Amino acid sequence: MPDSMIRAMAGGSRIRAVAAITTQMAEEARRRHHTFPTATAALSKALTGGLLLSSVCQKDGGKMTIRIIGGGPIGGIVVDACHDGTVRGYVAKPETDLPPNAEGQLDVGGAVGSAGFLTVTHDSGRGSRYTGTVELASGELGDDYTRYLAESVQTPSAVSLGIYLDREGKVEVAGGMIVQLMPGAGDEIAWRLEQTIQSLPSFTQMIRKYSTPYEILKAALSGFAIEVLMEDIPVSFSCPCTEERALWAVSTLGKAEIQSMIEEDGKAEVRCHFCNEEYLFSRSQLEALLNGVQ
Ligand SMILES: [Zn+2]
Repeated sequence: MPDSMIRAMAGGSRIRAVAAITTQMAEEARRRHHTFPTATAALSKALTGGLLLSSVCQKDGGKMTIRIIGGGPIGGIVVDACHDGTVRGYVAKPETDLPPNAEGQLDVGGAVGSAGFLTVTHDSGRGSRYTGTVELASGELGDDYTRYLAESVQTPSAVSLGIYLDREGKVEVAGGMIVQLMPGAGDEIAWRLEQTIQSLPSFTQMIRKYSTPYEILKAALSGFAIEVLMEDIPVSFSCPCTEERALWAVSTLGKAEIQSMIEEDGKAEVRCHFCNEEYLFSRSQLEALLNGVQ
């Protein structure tokens, strides 16, 4: 089944919910960045959380850049998520791998660390930008996105992120969900929602049990009537980098630098941080570039 996302309201429009299955997106990120298991989990959760955050915080055409730096061995995570369901990102140290935590889970909190910040830059795509920063709650990422929504966006929310790897470290299943209380929801709905969410099994168990975002929402919000706003929204790992843009990046280095590349290596290699794609330029391409650079 392809990855997808669902947007819904529940409890008579007092609750907003978005859920996604992101297994293929997470596996593509792992494959591209050659991440070790703990780093795979951290990157997958950061990417899935970014997609969900973009879905609840932004309008069409918007992009969000999320930077998470917590002092842990992973060194930092950067995610670019778009409202259209595409996302890209990377971790500074893809080889990060830790023993399981006290609950026997992949130790994302240990890898990310909790002494630092989560920073989100919203770009509306129409000229306006703003940045919000919160201190990390635990480095487990679900908690940290929850804190961001509570403190920076001032919407009480529960962010759940899950991932399960097979024995070879490949992504067997990944996904996430954000449930938010809308203004004016009232204490009774808030209390019922809290009880419902607290009684749920771990989100990783849920994504292993249910195969669509709709089934996840139905199970997570049992007792509330769900109104689907949009479903089967495709989500994917996608990077807009191209060979042309990479060559442009080389051209910005200037004549002297390009000349020394030609003399020293006879070629240039440009690697995109976000998707780890490598672009290789030959001596003749560099010489052509040099003739065009002022
Ligand atoms: Zn790229």
